[in-house]
Amino acid sequence: MNYFAQRPNQNLHAFAFTQPHAGHSRLPYQPMVVWMTGISASGKSTIADALDVALQAQGRLTCILDGDSVRGGLCRDLGFTDSDRDENIRRVAEVARLMLEAGLSVIVALISPSSASRHYARSIIGNEYFVEVHVDAPLETAELRDPKGLYKKARLGLIKHFTGIDSNYDVPVFPEVRVDTQALSVEQSVQTILDWVARNHART
Ligand code: ADP
Repeated sequence: MNYFAQRPNQNLHAFAFTQPHAGHSRLPYQPMVVWMTGISASGKSTIADALDVALQAQGRLTCILDGDSVRGGLCRDLGFTDSDRDENIRRVAEVARLMLEAGLSVIVALISPSSASRHYARSIIGNEYFVEVHVDAPLETAELRDPKGLYKKARLGLIKHFTGIDSNYDVPVFPEVRVDTQALSVEQSVQTILDWVARNHART
């Protein structure tokens, strides 16, 4: 099934609400969705956590949508086939958009391996709010870190469709930000993202 296909329903009529973005104009900052993509153990959750602290210190209201947490609830019916991964991303993007509309700055930490699905997430959220961050680490480095022991299991064939092993990761070509977590500390990666936000995403 192609989850990205439009499935129009002629009986749906979206109500024209008076203030669809009620929270936005009153906020001292522009809400955004920082979408962290990268292979497992590249550092997405670790950097998301530190970025969350930093953004809250700036006075932003924030929320983290982390892959494993989402898969324990909102997406617990989904597996790791290509179509399930796409549906996982679609749901997270839709939830992120709702949070964005409520005025939150949302941090998404999701492998999101296909460029098509990331592109789709961008289209749901809106280009002006979407900050794609490639949390980059060589596969060998991620595999050495392996904080959850997943690479080990994947190499033993105990996990199928594991990104980087027997499932593809499309390296982002033009992400808004790229952080090389082999070269940068967690603090340096967070600062790189904050600098980009300050330069490009200040209150309009
Ligand atoms: P992901 O969410 O991408 O799967 P995690 O954040 O869960 O990755 O795990 C990354 C692991 O790598 C953590 O154990 C973290 O402490 C470690 N690590 C080591 N150096 C770095 C770094 N420079 N940036 C981010 N994580 C790092």
